[in-house]
Amino acid sequence: MEEYKLFIDGKWVNSSSNETFLSLDPSNKKPIGKFQKGNEKDVEKAVQAAERSLEEWKNTPAPKRGEILLEASYLLKKNKQRLAELVTQEMGKVIKEAKGDVQEAIDTFEYFSGEGRRLFGRTTPSELRNKFCMTTRIPIGIVGLITPWNFPTAIPAWKLAPSLICGNTVVFKPASDTPLCAIEVIKILEEAGIPNGVVNLITGPADKVGTTIIKHKKIRAISFTGSRATGEFVLKNAGIKKVGLELGGKNAIIIMDDADLNLALEGVIWGGFGTTGQRCTAASRVIIHEKVKKQFEKMFVEKTKKLKLGNGLDSKTDVGPLINENALKKVHSYTEIGKKEKAKLLIGGNLGNSKGYFYQPTIFTDVKPNMRIAQEEIFGPTICLISVKNLNEAIKVCNSVSYGLSSSIYTNNISNAFNAIKDIESGITYINSSTIGAEVHLPFGGVKETGSFREAGWSGIEEFSEEKTIYVDYSGKLQKAQIDSVESKKK
Ligand code: NAD
Repeated sequence: MEEYKLFIDGKWVNSSSNETFLSLDPSNKKPIGKFQKGNEKDVEKAVQAAERSLEEWKNTPAPKRGEILLEASYLLKKNKQRLAELVTQEMGKVIKEAKGDVQEAIDTFEYFSGEGRRLFGRTTPSELRNKFCMTTRIPIGIVGLITPWNFPTAIPAWKLAPSLICGNTVVFKPASDTPLCAIEVIKILEEAGIPNGVVNLITGPADKVGTTIIKHKKIRAISFTGSRATGEFVLKNAGIKKVGLELGGKNAIIIMDDADLNLALEGVIWGGFGTTGQRCTAASRVIIHEKVKKQFEKMFVEKTKKLKLGNGLDSKTDVGPLINENALKKVHSYTEIGKKEKAKLLIGGNLGNSKGYFYQPTIFTDVKPNMRIAQEEIFGPTICLISVKNLNEAIKVCNSVSYGLSSSIYTNNISNAFNAIKDIESGITYINSSTIGAEVHLPFGGVKETGSFREAGWSGIEEFSEEKTIYVDYSGKLQKAQIDSVESKKK
């Protein structure tokens, strides 16, 4: 079995721990490689390398930094099929979606390469004569990136590309379920010509690697995507740093009585069972108008029955495995909770093929908004149907959870659509489309306990740079803001 290394200062090296861990294919539980169990010493070496390379990298003109990102985008494109198969093998999502994951990484590197010729600041008039005011973007310094396993090439790209274009150097810890996908992204950057020390990758345990990154004094920003519990830990332990948190979701699709039910059904299946429900934007609640509930339930069960569980590399597979044993246990525990709460199980609720971590697509109906299955993130193929009498009630139910990432409404009534846009508490709202489908050039993120923070698009630049304010006084005399400007008005 191949053994993979850490990437520190431009070299692939062993961990100081001399220990390794395995990454498994979730469809058959077979190991796909051995990975270094990094530790505190490795993080320290990575920070030192990032510190040494910072001066040169931040002074490299941004368009030149952009050329490396553009090359990375080309190389990702050249390797798309191979990388997509690896995403399916290591993370489990079906091959079509795995190609989408890699495409998102391609698009992200391409988008941020262009930012090298923008990185816009602003100019604005001064309140005083012969004085010029502007802002520019400056790097933060060394940034720590910590990523989950569910988008194993796209999320690293979302964080790496803007960090690098803004002139930062990086210490990156990927999830331990998908280290190989992260290593492949770093190999692409290496081949694209990233200078030594600018990007450093440390695989290994959350406590030894993740926590050391979070607490390190020389790391000036943390960008974290993962669970709410870990997000809280990051906030408590990062000290005075810039912290970006992208946490969980309990996203809802609202279906009104005037909606195109066939279209809504496609959106619910795609949003709820796509990626086996393991997207932060997955649709795990369907809030449905009581007039169309019975009809929709029937259509939904019929379509769900036909979904094929299996290895994502098989083009006939609709739903792949969950990521690991713990995820399987967690998802099944929510089925038990749903039953105890007296929700009605319409279909599913059992483990699938035991070769891998498979779970049947599961639908509960007659779910009450305050039940745990309607409030907590399950992160699996479980959808709760909640019936409501009107739009006001639908929005109230939609907003009754602590998260606020994505949302959707199916309606043919423009007033319903705009009221939903205005009143739903979420970072993203789709009209007549599912809760998933973010494009890389728009801001992505949530409100409430999802973490009020945005990445991707122009927000990515805001996340990974500081805005510096500059005043140029060419009057040749001392001019005092708030004092001379008021005095001159009186004259
Ligand atoms: P997780 O919080 O368990 O792990 C995320 C990363 O943090 C991993 O690299 C992990 O090793 C590391 N980590 C865990 N504990 C740590 C600690 N104490 N100190 C430092 N690092 C630590 O999350 P996960 O299970 O990998 O991912 C699933 C979660 O991510 C879900 O809640 C999902 O909604 C969320 N997610 C959110 C978004 C978003 O953009 N909002 C996107 C994808 C996933």
